[in-house]
Amino acid sequence: MKYINEDKINNLLADSAAVDNRQLENILAKARLLKRLTLKESALLLAAQEPGDIQKIFETASYVKDTIYGRRVVLFAPLYISNLCANNCLYCAFKSDNLLIKRKALTVSQINAEIVWLLKRGHKRILMVCGEQAPQGKTGISYYLDAVKAIYAAQADKNRIKRVNVNCAPLTVSEFQQLKASGIGTYQIFQETYHEKTYRLMHPAGPKSDPDYRITAPDRAFKAGIDDIGIGALFGLYDYRFEVLGLLSHIEHLEEEFGIGPHTISVPRIEPAEGSDLSLCPPYKISDDEFMKIVAVLRLSVPYTGIIMSTRENALMRDRLLSLGVSQVSAESNTSPGGYSASANTQAGRQFSLGDQRSLDEIVGALIAHDYIPSFCAACYRMERTGKSFMDLARPGTIKGKCSMNALITLQEYLDDFASSSVKAEGYKMISRYFKQLDAVDQDRLKLFFAHVAQGTRDEYV
Ligand code: SAM
Ligand code: SF4
Repeated sequence: MKYINEDKINNLLADSAAVDNRQLENILAKARLLKRLTLKESALLLAAQEPGDIQKIFETASYVKDTIYGRRVVLFAPLYISNLCANNCLYCAFKSDNLLIKRKALTVSQINAEIVWLLKRGHKRILMVCGEQAPQGKTGISYYLDAVKAIYAAQADKNRIKRVNVNCAPLTVSEFQQLKASGIGTYQIFQETYHEKTYRLMHPAGPKSDPDYRITAPDRAFKAGIDDIGIGALFGLYDYRFEVLGLLSHIEHLEEEFGIGPHTISVPRIEPAEGSDLSLCPPYKISDDEFMKIVAVLRLSVPYTGIIMSTRENALMRDRLLSLGVSQVSAESNTSPGGYSASANTQAGRQFSLGDQRSLDEIVGALIAHDYIPSFCAACYRMERTGKSFMDLARPGTIKGKCSMNALITLQEYLDDFASSSVKAEGYKMISRYFKQLDAVDQDRLKLFFAHVAQGTRDEYV
């Protein structure tokens, strides 16, 4: 597979079978300075086994996360627009040979209904997801463009979606240019596995069976001008240590070629999917402890890159992973096209089952209870703080001040418009607690924003 030197990764893993005390202290001291780690250093962290060592890694990951991102956690909802798919990925319910699910591609008016449902719950950020273009081409680029347009156009009272990110099959440069022109935020694509033999085994048919066309998708997206790219691996397909070093090798390539790495990394774990035997018994199932280590090591290895976690994880795990480095979470997800607005809120035709079924209000309440500031902000995207400009702010940790302010403004809006009475009470207390920590200048700025929110203005940011 392009960009992935398997011999190098295997040698690094073999040479880093254990980490001694001095090595660990040196690596963690470097990480505390928010410096990017080398592959060798990441491999050594992955080798840590002793509970005391793991604890030190976790504490450093929390420190790095708090230093760069502060306490805010960005919330989004996935919108599945189509489950038609030309591929046959062994782990996914949308695979082409799965006859158990009902296939559908939402129409523009169905997309509108889904977004109105989400807007009424308080959602502001969407991740649009779909199967790969079916042979008849019904769900290709023009369909994506219509869908993005429909999402931005939807309205519920004064509320609109602020940012649409997209997770779809790899496109050509010219298709990516059209996607960029439609106003998307991040383009997201997961390589699934960086181990070529496993990749070929898992993707036996369809356009996705070519690993090189997939791993080069971020390059084409960058060339097309999309400068916020999300990458990821589907954990459970192959040895997680190899996958982490594969992800980091991919990032090294992007940094060398384009001067910036990905905006986000996603860490999905395989969940049970209807019609997929493999998903019920993943070949390299990873434990919760291993999963926490993966998130912490990624947090330390690429400190300036956001880490996304989805509703695949259950509530307890999500709360633990937040402290280790996750900065964005999906909330109240439904992985079935049309599933939100369907009268019975159906899960039929869904991609996989979910570990966390809480409502947005419950998730906001839980975040507040754990002292995380729920954020619906999309200011960086609006202010064109994307790509390199975002990285320049994130690297020294200066994005934190803006993020916290914007998180408080968008939380105030959410509480006023959508929250239940108990979440409102705790949320307002949180805002006043964080307000007191700001300096006088920022307090005056925030007071002004809150006065606007009280008068009904929405969607302001710094
Ligand atoms: N079809 C496009 C593709 O494969 O790139 C984009 C959408 S696909 C629905 C998004 C992601 O879902 C895939 O990249 C894969 O990592 C993840 N996925 C598929 N099956 C899964 C399962 N059983 N559990 C968890 N995640 C899964
Ligand atoms: Fe299709 Fe994506 Fe599912 Fe593969 S992971 S079957 S490409 S929807």
